[in-house]
Amino acid sequence: MSSQIMQTAENVFAQTYKRFPLVIEKGRGSTLWDTAGRSYTDFVAGIAVCNLGHAHPAVNQALADQMEKLYHVSNLYYTIPQTELAAALVENSFADRVFFCNSGAEANEAAIKMARKYYSERGEAGRHVILSATQSFHGRTMAALSATGQAKIKKGFDPILPGFDFVPFNDIAALRQRMDDTVCAVLLEPIQGEGGVNCPADDYLGQVRELCDQRGALLIFDEIQTGMGRTGKLFAHEHFAVTPDLMTLAKALANGLPMGALLAREPVAAAFGPGAHASTFGGTPIVTAAALATLQTLLAENLPELAAQTGAYFKDRLADLASRHAVVKRALGMGLLLALELDRPAAPVVDACLERGFLINCVQERRLRFVPPLTITRGEIDDLVACLDEIFTSDDI
Ligand SMILES: *Cc1c(COP(=O)(O)O)cnc(C)c1O
Repeated sequence: MSSQIMQTAENVFAQTYKRFPLVIEKGRGSTLWDTAGRSYTDFVAGIAVCNLGHAHPAVNQALADQMEKLYHVSNLYYTIPQTELAAALVENSFADRVFFCNSGAEANEAAIKMARKYYSERGEAGRHVILSATQSFHGRTMAALSATGQAKIKKGFDPILPGFDFVPFNDIAALRQRMDDTVCAVLLEPIQGEGGVNCPADDYLGQVRELCDQRGALLIFDEIQTGMGRTGKLFAHEHFAVTPDLMTLAKALANGLPMGALLAREPVAAAFGPGAHASTFGGTPIVTAAALATLQTLLAENLPELAAQTGAYFKDRLADLASRHAVVKRALGMGLLLALELDRPAAPVVDACLERGFLINCVQERRLRFVPPLTITRGEIDDLVACLDEIFTSDDI
């Protein structure tokens, strides 16, 4: 069964993904099962998506209830779950208004468009440059890709769009030097995810905010990976006491249903009037019902705080591995967005973990990333750490 699926998949899919040799059939909490009935503890969570774990009962119930009522109508009409979700996001963030879309890349597209439109309406169309960071990741559509600071992601897709530029992440002097009246917005991940789980210095984002204010540029945080409790706060920027003008969300927003959002504060949000931007599927009743149940569960169960505590425990255990194995250089990250930097390629460790029943992945060449459901237990973490300990001790890598 599974070999047949894998063979068919290899024949029919565009070859954009190199997949691991297992067919996943079901999941519950932090556990997944393949078609052979083998179980795996999931430290990938769909890449920081299933923050409540798989098949969460509150999300299942919200979906089942909504399915009986309504899948989709156009955004020409009001619906209840979409409105309630937007109100809950506004209530729990800096934002005044929300635009819904279907993915992270689309949320960043919306942010770039809103920022440019804001200045264009003020008669400052020359202020259109989006400044982001080297090693950043903002998505695969043309504008999101143009804002991404990694050459390998842009290779072969020229011409890259004009109006984008880059500065090194976590280097305030470089940003200060690049800032001028053409800069419309600074777009940053508070912690770079795909770039290798790179945390900023404590004062960096505050200094960026100050610089943006001084030079009249907007600040956009891409919290697609860091949001929804992942780093130990509902949104990662809360750790740094810095408020952006715009913020993008996706990944964990609906715990696995495809959904993105742009959150904005006034007066920037007002740049989007009727007809300025749109999405057929943006915020359908189904996905917003799932997202509302996800957000309510995160808040009611205080899961960001749980992620902070479990993450601190996990990071200590990872730091301990780093202190005992020469191949491990250091532990990185915050909350449950964590990584281990190795002195060699990390892919063989990912394979060895898979053989032992643990899903992890690597970012950049030499970093193992850990982004489990926020409900992962210390026991599950201990089991993974014991497995890594054994792999680092063996000659497998
Ligand atoms: C995953 C990710 C994106 C892209 O999201 P998609 O839903 O794959 O388009 C953008 N920014 C960050 C920080 C991400 O982690």
